[in-house]
Amino acid sequence: MKRIGLTGGIGSGKTTVAKMFSKLGVPVYIADTEARKLTNSSKTIRRELTELLGEEAYLEGVLNRKFVADKIFNDKALLEAVNGIIHPKVAAHFNAWAAKQKSAYVIQEAAILFENGSYRNFDAIILVTAPKEIRIARVMARDNASSHEIEQRVSNQWSDEKKEKLADFIIENIDLEATQKRVENLHRSLS
Ligand code: ATP
Repeated sequence: MKRIGLTGGIGSGKTTVAKMFSKLGVPVYIADTEARKLTNSSKTIRRELTELLGEEAYLEGVLNRKFVADKIFNDKALLEAVNGIIHPKVAAHFNAWAAKQKSAYVIQEAAILFENGSYRNFDAIILVTAPKEIRIARVMARDNASSHEIEQRVSNQWSDEKKEKLADFIIENIDLEATQKRVENLHRSLS
């Protein structure tokens, strides 16, 4: 079974594309959702994060996201240490999940795959792209966020040009019907 990573910049349409694959019957693992669940359920993650950040890292058994975000804001080493605790557990959980699926391939959707090197753990990477202005407009409409806020989040991610060099398949997501056709074609070649 092939393990395929699906990524793209903020507002590119990763989730939209992931849903298209899911509708075609492909098992899809949403890394962000699973990471959130694991940070609350895994005793090892809880112990290691508490050792690193202090008891306040958890409130009544649930990760105190605001506290953690404030701590790692502007502290790259601490951010890397937090990721170093969470990412290996998510990778192991994904692999165990993938091993149970009965399909030609599975997909993991993740916002960050290239930036942290985890793209190397996949057989192939699908990159969803769209021009930056379109991505920002989409997220402004979706999240009711300011363009400044979104620009800041965009600036933490690699540019599409940089990611395109490492991607195996690119889905340019502008027109939804064209995207649907591209997904169906890719599905045929991956199945
Ligand atoms: P994020 O990284 O912020 O989670 P994402 O890459 O997962 O974003 P989506 O949530 O799929 O992106 O899409 C962002 C918004 O743009 C959503 O409201 C979605 O419905 C819309 N959208 C996605 N693709 C298109 C498209 N081709 N045309 C118009 N709207 C789109």
